[in-house]
Amino acid sequence: MRIEAVEVRIVALPLVTPFAASHGTTSIRTAVLVRLAGPDGEGWGECAALPEPTYSAEFVDDAFLTIRDVLAPRLLTNPVFGSGGVSSVELPALFADVVGHPMAKAAIEMALLDFECRSANVSLAHRLAPNPPGPTASVPAGVAIGLLDTPDALAQQIAAQIAEGYGRVKIKIAPGRDIEFVRAAREAAGRDIILVVDANGAYRIDGSVGEIDDARALSQLDEFDLACIEQPLAADNLLDHAELARRLDTPICLDESLTSASITRQALDMGACSVVCVKAPRYGSWLVAADVLDHCAGNDIPAWVGGMLDTGLGRAANIALAAHPGATMPGDISATSRFFSEDVCPPFVVDGPAGAGSIAVPTGNGLGVAVDQLRIERLTTNVDLIRA
Ligand SMILES: [Mg+2]
Repeated sequence: MRIEAVEVRIVALPLVTPFAASHGTTSIRTAVLVRLAGPDGEGWGECAALPEPTYSAEFVDDAFLTIRDVLAPRLLTNPVFGSGGVSSVELPALFADVVGHPMAKAAIEMALLDFECRSANVSLAHRLAPNPPGPTASVPAGVAIGLLDTPDALAQQIAAQIAEGYGRVKIKIAPGRDIEFVRAAREAAGRDIILVVDANGAYRIDGSVGEIDDARALSQLDEFDLACIEQPLAADNLLDHAELARRLDTPICLDESLTSASITRQALDMGACSVVCVKAPRYGSWLVAADVLDHCAGNDIPAWVGGMLDTGLGRAANIALAAHPGATMPGDISATSRFFSEDVCPPFVVDGPAGAGSIAVPTGNGLGVAVDQLRIERLTTNVDLIRA
């Protein structure tokens, strides 16, 4: 596509309730949105970076500058491919000299994919899963619940979420806030609900550092029939994850560790995980994320699509990715109202009975959502327009 302008902005969406994980609490979700404009239309992207560098090194203000000052100029001057425009498959070459910043790169790619899909009259879900059987029409509803103060509070919230249609519940855990919380969660959920715990790397099994060995605490979770334990140990520690996997019955799923398709294959091959959380922004590419899902589908590896407290735009893209047939487990795909009272596009809703609801996959061209431009302007705290 020919790109004449890149609009990058920061929006601020208050969360319905603050969201706490072992790495920090988010009360207002600021996020970077990107709009690419050219003679043939436009496309929208969202950067998944959180307000502070707590999930990974990227954060909102840094992503805004990276897109405005580093990535947008490369897109607009297009030194690699001349003046004929750039396609999404060429972006890795265009950004090859920029180290890191996968979420900023994925935001540009998402906008370009939206732009391309609109021009080609195809949905993003079809673009990401072009081969038979193609994308699913809906995805199962899954919800992530942050760290709460008491097991009772967690049990109450889980019961409410299941009543709203969620059949898969993920809860955040941290050392000392695990066994009794998971026990309460399983009792509240019953046996039929898919239960996942996410530690965001908060545990240690390194016996050389004092007496630190959280493997015993984690093995106590085996009795609760969890679908998986997500990212129990530090992101850069695949070897200890493989050791932990040998000591637990519960499958290990990795999130923060899986920063590329090749690291994902290495982690699977060495037994550091047996379940894959696919996040396109973490890979720096929606196309790479779809490739990972192809790999998982071809090797019978369970996989699911994770979220990042995304606004409706990022959520639309995540739903499109989750419609890939390789996403065989329900992921972090929840209704917009779970997090935000107002959003940048019409809300996504959960349909269906308690414990078995789903969210429809947009079928329109590109992201398939109507961007609420007026509301975006009202929620914007900073905006820049970069022209060719
Ligand atoms: Mg996670």
